Amino acid sequence: MRKKNIRLFSKAREKEQVRERSNPFYHTYRWRKVSKEFLSREENQFCVHCKMNHVLAPATTTDHIIPMEICDDPYDERNFQPLCMRCNRIKGASDKRMIQQHKKKRHE
Ligand SMILES: [Zn+2]
Repeated sequence: MRKKNIRLFSKAREKEQVRERSNPFYHTYRWRKVSKEFLSREENQFCVHCKMNHVLAPATTTDHIIPMEICDDPYDERNFQPLCMRCNRIKGASDKRMIQQHKKKRHE
């Protein structure tokens, strides 16, 4: 009985995290189109983070090197990099820290 409760709890948390990370921007038609085009290029087939570790992982997402929330132009390709699911999740966590620091700086 106890075990079941714990599992349910962690599932609910997972959902919460996904919701937190999904920005309406990523659901716009324009972004989907740009992202799809970017990932379809030969040079963007594989995750750049994994590549640095000599691993070839298929890239599934277009990531903003400087987080979208704080970059000047979210459609500037120079700020794009192809990432796999796993690296994108890790990057998302560090992005949050970057955004927080950025906001702090502006307030000082
Ligand atoms: Zn990767």
